[in-house]
Amino acid sequence: MMAATKPAIRVEAPIIVPIGRRSSPYRVIIAGESWSRRNGEGMNATLMLVNPALRLMAVHAHPDDESSKGAATTAKYVAEGVEVLVVTCTGGERGDVLNEQAAAEVAELGLEEVRRREMARAAEILGVRQVWLGFPDSGFPEGDPLPPLPAGCFAALPLEVVASPLVALIREFQPQVVTTYDENGGYPHPDHSRTHEVTMAAVEAAADPMMYLGVGGAPWEVSKVYYNQQFSKQRVLALHLAMTDADLESPYDDWLKDWKDRPEDEDRITTRVDAAAWFEVRDQALSAHRTQIDPAGRWFAVPMELQKLVWPTEDFQLARSTVAVELPENDLFAGLRGR
Ligand SMILES: [Zn+2]
Repeated sequence: MMAATKPAIRVEAPIIVPIGRRSSPYRVIIAGESWSRRNGEGMNATLMLVNPALRLMAVHAHPDDESSKGAATTAKYVAEGVEVLVVTCTGGERGDVLNEQAAAEVAELGLEEVRRREMARAAEILGVRQVWLGFPDSGFPEGDPLPPLPAGCFAALPLEVVASPLVALIREFQPQVVTTYDENGGYPHPDHSRTHEVTMAAVEAAADPMMYLGVGGAPWEVSKVYYNQQFSKQRVLALHLAMTDADLESPYDDWLKDWKDRPEDEDRITTRVDAAAWFEVRDQALSAHRTQIDPAGRWFAVPMELQKLVWPTEDFQLARSTVAVELPENDLFAGLRGR
């Protein structure tokens, strides 16, 4: 708290309001020096909202994606005082149970409820806030020909419908930085490519006063949008070679043999965030998604020390920016600090 001669009112981060509510309530508490008020000392004084905080919104398709893509980066930014909001588009209720140890709990409570609990635990471990967009999981289509998408799922609903709640969240939370997946989804699941489309549409629309009138608060322009690029071939190959050099069994052998090179993937990484100190936290969050993560599986096969040595960063691709940047960068907020 600052000296008593300079009382300050701090307004907590905008509270995310249920979709459809127009007003954005701000909770006012006395503390801190970050917020100033315009008139006098009384609690009824007009508040001047000058929020200097940095805010990061990470948009993901399913519960567990936030822990496998950019998790160490979010934990790092939380530790630095950045407000981080994870948005989970679907409930992940069409996923498979990939860990036998979780089967009994799923039989008792149902997969959706178990995944909600897992998500809450992972968010707690990462230190992030998390909200659900609430759309039904589209499932991973398999077969030849592929079956149609289930009616009413996230990937089958019209774009303007699924973008609306994200527009509201962007206007309420006012993130300077948003992360999402690239145009291929980063992983061939219909909800992942949909997450890309919805994020890009919502970022665009949130800034436009003529679009989604009355949805969320005032228009908000996101300064930088990044694509998660943690599963680049460069990284997977580097870890694979480090494992084989150390006479350890690489978990990436089959993956690399079947790797489909695409020209657009060659040079995507613009931003490498040193997040090695948060790799353990990332793994704890990932482990909280018990139904999805086999403790004996690929996720934990590379020794931690080797990971930190060989590839200590989480990588991103700057997809759009309203501020001047110098690439490559090592900070998602480069060009936005001290503004
Ligand atoms: Zn996913």
